[in-house]
Amino acid sequence: MELYDITREDLQDMLSQLEQARFHHQLWHAAMVRVLACRLPADQHDICSESHHKCRFGQWYYSERSSKLRNRSGYIALGKAHKFMHQLAAKLLIETSEGKPLVTFDFDNFSNSLDRMRLEISALERELENALYNHDSLTGAINRTGILPALREQQELIKRELQSCCIVMVDLDNFKVINDLHGHLAGDNVLTASAHYLIEHIRPYDKVFRYGGEEFLLLLQHTELTLGFNMVERLREEFASMPISVKGKEPIHITASFGITLLDPATPVETSIDRVDKAMYAAKAAGRNCVRIWDTTM
Ligand code: GH3
Ligand code: MG
Ligand code: MG
Repeated sequence: MELYDITREDLQDMLSQLEQARFHHQLWHAAMVRVLACRLPADQHDICSESHHKCRFGQWYYSERSSKLRNRSGYIALGKAHKFMHQLAAKLLIETSEGKPLVTFDFDNFSNSLDRMRLEISALERELENALYNHDSLTGAINRTGILPALREQQELIKRELQSCCIVMVDLDNFKVINDLHGHLAGDNVLTASAHYLIEHIRPYDKVFRYGGEEFLLLLQHTELTLGFNMVERLREEFASMPISVKGKEPIHITASFGITLLDPATPVETSIDRVDKAMYAAKAAGRNCVRIWDTTM
């Protein structure tokens, strides 16, 4: 499941679970160190083989409430770190309860695994916060405010000749007609489906921003103009043939016009955005549902 399929309420719930997990494990860690140092009897939950299921975080992690995160690499990594940490804790607790000495190496391993788990919590928090605050809630595309920083970051890499990068302006064709014919809600559905299509059909390291109402800006990293053009041409063709289901109506087809240009290292990024916008308008003028590359005559 993509993060845009998770509601804001669920994202907020997940974030508060992660915050609680951090807090809970802090208390749990203090109690565990006390047990080890004072040779107190261990809590049965902490020494059983399923101890990672027994703590409050584990109960949430393995429950239905977190199921929407299940295929995400950050969530999987956190689960592994959490389980590993509990296994090391159980080993320490069992050995000391059997009167064996506390081995420095094992204790350090345990401490490191706890740090690792905290790092994974922070990473997942960052990912969820990014989805919650930096993405447009209707379409799941990145907010417009993220465009300039992202382009400037790319421009720095281009200046150092570490890569080249294409930007693409996408504008849905005759979108107003969809609203007028089928209503605003259907329009919203089409807009969302279009954004999801773009997000799912670009490479994981590319980005989709919502530039305006029915306009999206794509950032294609590590992409020369010819490769970029071919990618966008394929995207355009497949998009035009995609049926979009709208509640209670026949599926709708929609097309889009595309402009593309290389991100120019030598001009302000705003100028590159103007260029790609002009190229997109050239695609509109050429009859829509096509791709145009910016050139100096535009
Ligand atoms: P063109 O092919 O020239 O781009 O025509 P168009 O109809 O797509 O362009 P125009 O700029 O005339 O209309 C864009 C429409 O998009 C008008 C606006 O109401 C609609 N729109 C913008 N944002 C949203 C939105 O979030 N939801 C819905 N349903 N409509 C939106
Ligand atoms: Mg428009
Ligand atoms: Mg339009």
